[in-house]
Amino acid sequence: MPEEWVEQIINQVNTLEKLENYIDVSDGEREAIKTLKTRWGASPYFVSLMDRHDPDCPIRKQVIPSMKEQCNEYGMENYLVWKENREVDSDRPDSIARQYHDRIAFNVVQTCGIYCRHCFRKELVVDQDLQLRFNTDEGLAWVNEHPEIRDVLITGGDPLLLSDNKLEYLIARLREIAHVEVIRIGTRLPVVLPHRITEGLKKAIGGCHKVPVWINTQCNHPKEITEKTAKAVYDLLSCGINVGNQAVLLKGINDDVNTFRKLHQELLRIRIRPYYVFYCEPAPGIDHFRTPVEKGAELIRDAIRGHTTGMAQPIYVLATNIGKIPLMPDYYIVDKNEKEFTLRNYKGEITRTPNIP
Ligand SMILES: *Cc1c(COP(=O)(O)O)cnc(C)c1O
Ligand code: SF4
Repeated sequence: MPEEWVEQIINQVNTLEKLENYIDVSDGEREAIKTLKTRWGASPYFVSLMDRHDPDCPIRKQVIPSMKEQCNEYGMENYLVWKENREVDSDRPDSIARQYHDRIAFNVVQTCGIYCRHCFRKELVVDQDLQLRFNTDEGLAWVNEHPEIRDVLITGGDPLLLSDNKLEYLIARLREIAHVEVIRIGTRLPVVLPHRITEGLKKAIGGCHKVPVWINTQCNHPKEITEKTAKAVYDLLSCGINVGNQAVLLKGINDDVNTFRKLHQELLRIRIRPYYVFYCEPAPGIDHFRTPVEKGAELIRDAIRGHTTGMAQPIYVLATNIGKIPLMPDYYIVDKNEKEFTLRNYKGEITRTPNIP
């Protein structure tokens, strides 16, 4: 008998026939599934969270292809190659993406527990136009030879799809490298397949070690949060793994004040610390998910800062080829002179503080 999470992967909902067991598929969804040559699908668990009748359901929109994916006014061709500087400096294995001096993204797998329609790695993971070779031992050797790398972010695809044994090997090898101080894993599985957080996984990657493991997951809408995810997060924390969130700002899904606030409050309620909200990157074929750039900053101003605890406040960033650029609201400083700053709070009230030279 395979483990429950493996069964969920085997039974991934990725055909029209399977999807029809869960929802009343709309004409638009049906056309896109039949027409577009694109990899799509999610675990039966995640699909069961869909609204049967509403095609605007935030989970349906993240999972089911749309004819809108054919429009590409703003997306960049070869986006990922540009973003990960793959043409400019090519002395690295395919598995290593680098933008910073002290840390890298280490790609270990190309499959996911959900093929997000808004994925910025779409060309690699969803459309599979970009061919890269991810070899774990080659990546490990590269990290070993680069003493300036103190922080390794394991990503993919979704790294938690690796078996417990492979993860244990990968984490153990990284922990043997003297200059690696922090290991991070980017994974959507705590949200789209919480069954993956098993005793075996906790043994493989958890425990009290000198080199900690941090997980950042991706949850974009409060509807994605269930008691199963809450339990999975608790299990991770209880074996010493911190859990953060990296949401993507998505038009019509989480770009209104109420949803945005509720998402971040609910994340905290289940012990996930909001880390980033990403602007939806200019990858090709995802125009329909993109808001104006300022939108995320406005939402932090109007939905989070002052309206709820600062613990729930993520940093809003635009991920680029030269790193992540914070785009935070700039309403706080009204005026500044030699003597003092004039400051504004979330309600529009004004206060002053001395300007120290
Ligand atoms: C996002 C990213 C990182 C990690 O950035 P943090 O701001 O430290 O979370 C590292 N390397 C690459 C290539 C990245 O895209
Ligand atoms: S889980 Fe991550 S890598 Fe996979 S499709 Fe979604 S956004 Fe892309």
